[in-house]
Amino acid sequence: MFYCLSCKRVGKNAEVCEYCSAENLKELKVDSPVNVIGTKLKGRVLKLSGDKVRLLIRDDANNRFIKEYSYRDIKKVL
Ligand SMILES: [Zn+2]
Repeated sequence: MFYCLSCKRVGKNAEVCEYCSAENLKELKVDSPVNVIGTKLKGRVLKLSGDKVRLLIRDDANNRFIKEYSYRDIKKVL
């Protein structure tokens, strides 16, 4: 998976962002910090498989939990 340096969205295309058509993408790696779109949840990538991204989330109360999202539901935190 790759993230767009312009809009921060994650996609599977390494050449062109499927959201904003920018051509400046980088590989999304394990341990990268990400944000769940539409929430204040932040986490780190534990595992990437298929369309799924497993995250270690830390909430406002500093609780940690593991949850899986579609890559469409996350954004890279720079
Ligand atoms: Zn983009």
